[in-house]
Amino acid sequence: MSIVSGILRIAEDEARAAEARVINSIELEIGQLAGIEIESLNFCFDVARRDTMAAEAALVIHDIPGLGFCPTCAKNVPVEFHLAVCGECDEALVDVFQGRELRVKSINVD
Ligand SMILES: [Zn+2]
Repeated sequence: MSIVSGILRIAEDEARAAEARVINSIELEIGQLAGIEIESLNFCFDVARRDTMAAEAALVIHDIPGLGFCPTCAKNVPVEFHLAVCGECDEALVDVFQGRELRVKSINVD
């Protein structure tokens, strides 16, 4: 729930800065390793947006896949966990650099 409040606060701040009255949509980037349940996020958003500028806003979510660098294979490989062993060489711990993001990509206001 606090995640959603944070998102709404960011969106409202930006909308006010743009002297907008309503927020039409909020686009989020959520990494698959961020530990966010999209379903519960959507549910919380539906509740939290009431009485905000985003009361009618659509929530658009972009999934960012987990990606890490394997030092043994010397290339990027997909990962599903924070601590992941490379699926190709099966030995090296990959250095995860993508998939933990949770950010407001853009908002659309009027
Ligand atoms: Zn590898």
